[in-house]
Amino acid sequence: MKLFNTLTRRKEEFVPIEEGKVRMYVCGPTVYNLIHIGNARPMIIFDTVRRYMEYKGYEVNYVSNFTDVDDKIIKKAIEEGVSAEEISTRYIRECKQDMEGMNVRPATTHPQATQEIDGMIDMIRTLIEKGHAYAAADGTVYFRVKSFPEYGKLSHKNLDDLQSGFRSLQVSGEDQKEDPLDFVLWKPKKEGEPYWTSPWCDGRPGWHIECSVMSKKYLGEEIDIHAGGEDLVFPHHENEIAQSESCNGKIFARYWMHNAFLNIDNKKMSKSLGNFRTVREISAQYDLQVLRFFMLNAHYRSPLNFSADLMEASKNALERIVEAAARLEDRKKAAAVQEISKAEEELLKEADAFRVKFEEAMDDDFNTADALAAVFELVKFANTSVTEESSASFSGALLKELNTLCDVLGLKTARKAEILDKEIEDLIAERQQARKNRDFARADEIRDELLEKGIILKDTREGVKWQRA
Ligand code: AMP
Ligand code: ZN
Repeated sequence: MKLFNTLTRRKEEFVPIEEGKVRMYVCGPTVYNLIHIGNARPMIIFDTVRRYMEYKGYEVNYVSNFTDVDDKIIKKAIEEGVSAEEISTRYIRECKQDMEGMNVRPATTHPQATQEIDGMIDMIRTLIEKGHAYAAADGTVYFRVKSFPEYGKLSHKNLDDLQSGFRSLQVSGEDQKEDPLDFVLWKPKKEGEPYWTSPWCDGRPGWHIECSVMSKKYLGEEIDIHAGGEDLVFPHHENEIAQSESCNGKIFARYWMHNAFLNIDNKKMSKSLGNFRTVREISAQYDLQVLRFFMLNAHYRSPLNFSADLMEASKNALERIVEAAARLEDRKKAAAVQEISKAEEELLKEADAFRVKFEEAMDDDFNTADALAAVFELVKFANTSVTEESSASFSGALLKELNTLCDVLGLKTARKAEILDKEIEDLIAERQQARKNRDFARADEIRDELLEKGIILKDTREGVKWQRA
């Protein structure tokens, strides 16, 4: 299995630290809002990496954090007049719901920064003791970048270039740093912000130290894969390497994987441009399996453009897989013969070629687009080779193969009975209209129909609210 390592800028053979085991850390979202479809890209990609590793027989310890202390969370809490904890708890819950919809499996551990402050204080203390960090007069602790000569090795930046670039960017408050490149490990509290006591001041950790500490606690000092979106290469991951390697004296992660960005209508997705889509919005229109298919139909290191056309195409393509699986299931149930024939055995041997192609694609730096092409070859083969005369064993074997490959990609082949948000909203509107018309029988009928699909309606003063049971 080969993967592209940002550190060496080459595809390298994957060799785990411990045979048969993979220790993998993926930087998770900052939880101050519903996740957007850009955030969904690393979730889907690295969940697929994990699934493929497991398919190959590895035991994967997969850790992905939630950043639950951050300026954006605090700002949102102030706007709403609630605590930062309430904001982060709410959006962790919502994020988990979106993950489930996208069939992204929960991590082995989902640590939260606010639960790991002691570990952060310990690591900062060690860094100070070893001369890699220092506290300024106001209690801010900085990492001393010059003390780590390898700084820049991940992002392939040169320390001197960085230094000259930074000099012109110096901002107020920065003059207490020894060097403009030094970055914050711990910062003093501001009025109304959550804080923890530390040997340096009441305050909170910087963002980068969180991941170094959580990775060490749950995976050990040396890990196999560290991953995230490409915007994290610098400074976040560069700083994580500096902290972890200076503290532990060991190589932090052997392989660094980064997904390219998701754009919308060929423009960078951002709030200011108003072209920002949440996963929740997409779920009102599509089964989130469609979003997953859309992401996997491109290479993770290529920029990907989100568009309505591509989503429609993904929906139709996914439907072809689901339909083929349903047909195989039907043929298996309705078959007159159970036993596989000699001719069918030969056909099954032929079908092995699709799995081989699938694996070759995945072994080549997780080329999920080519892996999907192999799945479609299998679909075509199944559609033509299974007939009314086929044995149950033959249809069953092809169905099993299709299910196995789709499961590696996290795509569900079973037709979804579940109802989409938009259909629910439409039915609720119809029910309101029926009530207005005093057609209570129809209104009750709609309520029951929704209940049958696991949707509970609540009539409140602000209107009708609904939730999934
Ligand atoms: P954040 O909440 O901004 O820390 O992001 C969480 C994860 O989503 C990180 O791995 C980011 O690199 C990734 N990410 C954010 N925006 C995008 C995007 N538009 N396309 C792909 N990945 C993204
Ligand atoms: Zn991180």
